[in-house]
Amino acid sequence: MNKERENMNKIFTHRAKWILPIVQPPIENGAVAVAEGKILRAGTYDDLKEKGIKGELIDHGEGVLMPALVNAHAHLEIPPFTNLPAEDFVTWLKAVIEKKQTLTTEQVQQAEKNAHQMLKQAGTGLVGNIKNFPLINPNKQINEVTFYEFLGLKKEIANKRWSIFGKFLHETNHQSPIYPAAHAPYSVHPEFLPKIKEVALSRKQIFSIHVAESEAENEFLLEGKGALRALLEEKGLLPDNFRPPQKRPVPYLAELGLLTPQTLCVHCVEINAEDIRILQRYGVKICLCPRSNYYLNLNHAPWPLLKQSGLLLCLGTDSLASNQDLNLFKEMVFLYEKNAFSASELLEMATWRGSMALGQGHRFGTMFPGAWAELIFLPLVGNIGLKELAEAVIYTGARGRLKWIK
Ligand SMILES: [Zn+2]
Repeated sequence: MNKERENMNKIFTHRAKWILPIVQPPIENGAVAVAEGKILRAGTYDDLKEKGIKGELIDHGEGVLMPALVNAHAHLEIPPFTNLPAEDFVTWLKAVIEKKQTLTTEQVQQAEKNAHQMLKQAGTGLVGNIKNFPLINPNKQINEVTFYEFLGLKKEIANKRWSIFGKFLHETNHQSPIYPAAHAPYSVHPEFLPKIKEVALSRKQIFSIHVAESEAENEFLLEGKGALRALLEEKGLLPDNFRPPQKRPVPYLAELGLLTPQTLCVHCVEINAEDIRILQRYGVKICLCPRSNYYLNLNHAPWPLLKQSGLLLCLGTDSLASNQDLNLFKEMVFLYEKNAFSASELLEMATWRGSMALGQGHRFGTMFPGAWAELIFLPLVGNIGLKELAEAVIYTGARGRLKWIK
């Protein structure tokens, strides 16, 4: 038996001062048993011994063992676009559109490869990756839910792109399935939005869409005016005789039948209490990208209202065109320092809630028996007690002090 195969069949018991199973309270003097890349059991070290779980013991000492993070929204094919004007959303969007047109296949592939490396270093085990280029990245270092995103507000353009979209989604030579996504309510023709959602429903997949990211989006959908209209006109992307739906983004998507529990709405910055009631009615999942919103001088999402709503919230970094890095620990620190959520809530949002939002159930971001053993260890300095534990974890992770357990 070769060494690798032997290791696959072996049981490893990882012990640490703290175990953070996420869906259960932290466990002091804990251990997690792993075999064949999956979690067998997590508990106190004594509990595992009592249950007769043997195997090679690896004691990691003072620190925390936890599931790797889940970044539910990123665009890995976008390289670090530095020096783009970021003070205004529409000016930035114009610059991104222009810059993306200059990207070569090699640059896109290199960007994805580099992004996977960055995510791995930041302790991420699963990413929701939005793609516009129909290219498969063969160099994945972490698990990925790959979305292929549709864009086209003009019917002629949308019609032309539809066959390319379908072809890439349905190609059978992909290692893992490709999920359908729509860019945003303002950038996809109203006849095509339900068609994309239909594809997701028929394949029992999550459907992702950017929703209510900016005030400009609301203005455009309600009145058909403003900077977004001017940009679409300038680029030749506005339909002739365009008539706005005269609705805010959330009721507009609800009317088109796009909101279901398998819909992942990204951003949700410009939403009000009535929008939240609609989102609750349909049980959609929400991904917040707070540092991207901040980078683009946008408002904060209504965190207290979202928190009260009971909707499933998760976190994403968005792309390197609107963020310095792809580090989800830094997203947590950002929201923690704004008193938006507690450190424990943020750790849930950055792990199993992200896995749920991407349709992966408890396979990622938990220590349930059978979950993938995608585990990281963070060393903790000083005598950290239960009360300070979650806070210590997010700051230690943000400083990059972590290692992978394999
Ligand atoms: Zn995005």
